Amino acid sequence: MRGVAVLGSTGSIGRSTLAVLARQRDHFRVVALTAGRNASLLDAQRAEWSPVFAGLVDGGAASTLPGGPEVLIEAATHPSVDIVVNAVVGAAGLDATLAALRAGKRVALANKESLVMAGELVMEAVRLGGGELVPIDSEHSAVLQCLTGHGGSLDRLILTASGGPFREWPAERVAAATVEEALRHPTWSMGAKITVDSATLANKALEVIEAHFLYGLPYDRIDVVVHPQSIVHSMVEFVDGSVLAQLGFPTMELPILYALTHPQRLPDAGVPRFDPVGAGSLTFEPLRAAVFRTFGAGVAAGRAGGTAPTVFNAANEVAVAAFLERKLSFARISDTIEAVLDAHAPQPAVTLDAVRDADHWARARAHEELS
Ligand code: NAD
Ligand code: MG
Repeated sequence: MRGVAVLGSTGSIGRSTLAVLARQRDHFRVVALTAGRNASLLDAQRAEWSPVFAGLVDGGAASTLPGGPEVLIEAATHPSVDIVVNAVVGAAGLDATLAALRAGKRVALANKESLVMAGELVMEAVRLGGGELVPIDSEHSAVLQCLTGHGGSLDRLILTASGGPFREWPAERVAAATVEEALRHPTWSMGAKITVDSATLANKALEVIEAHFLYGLPYDRIDVVVHPQSIVHSMVEFVDGSVLAQLGFPTMELPILYALTHPQRLPDAGVPRFDPVGAGSLTFEPLRAAVFRTFGAGVAAGRAGGTAPTVFNAANEVAVAAFLERKLSFARISDTIEAVLDAHAPQPAVTLDAVRDADHWARARAHEELS
């Protein structure tokens, strides 16, 4: 029995994680649960799972549970926890990722923002803490599944992208897209922030940076291709030119289970079995970088290195929040991110202070752009 902490248990990935764990009660037990502010759903989850620890980060005065950002650290480093599922959204997930890795835990990482904002520190924490970092993101899970048993001969990654809801829209229509339109993702049902990231294709830039740190590949060996059906979750090319891909109907429950069991697998009757005829035609096309400029800005930030990806992530978080609050047009999301990155002189990102300074600077600078 392995002990699991689910950080962000009330979100999309958090709820999918508990759905997976409900079918694997012989192998895992839930030790800790944390949520941001959804007290009623967390109460229901506590009643079902009886965790040893539960925390509500933003509970306010009415809450009787432990609160504040420290609850993430407490859950992530709890002695009975073996695996930390980090399903928090945004920069708020970083400290828990670092703390869990330093405590030698396996981190099943959905919170890609922690790896983008502090990739060098996170990978150092893996090396020094003796823990493991296993991705939940479907593309990175696909890569890991293709690589497992084939170490040492990787040449190139081809990450797939659905293309989002505006894949075929003319540029002018994309520029004026509404919140409702951006939240209508064609193939995946996810939290609001990542759904907007998928519409701007910022999500794919975050994933390229995530792949760079996870698999230690230079940026010119990480390609992206648009695949609207979301059936091929990514591809791996080896030194001899052979390509392996991982396929399945879109569900996050499979990559979540794999992040818990890697390198082994467990039977799971809850995931829809693949049917190639049902999947129909699989198509691939180039990403329209001239329309989705946030993608290029993010990859350029990754290539620049140091604090540039930290700044990209922070500016994106501020711009997306403003868009969701209807204070910023869709077109101005990329304008804002580009302006903040243009004003930034990247520094080495080898200390937490340097990362925090860059994150704070970028948020303040992005707010100036908005006003
Ligand atoms: P979500 O908004 O549905 O859930 C976020 C969770 O984090 C909630 O439980 C919320 O209470 C908690 N939370 C929010 N702010 C917090 C804070 N400041 N401190 C502590 N907890 C806080 O988001 P999601 O779609 O589940 O995404 C979670 C992460 O997983 C993101 O990093 C996202 O990029 C990544 N991801 C999601 C999917 C998906 O299918 N949803 C796929 C791949 C990767
Ligand atoms: Mg993904």
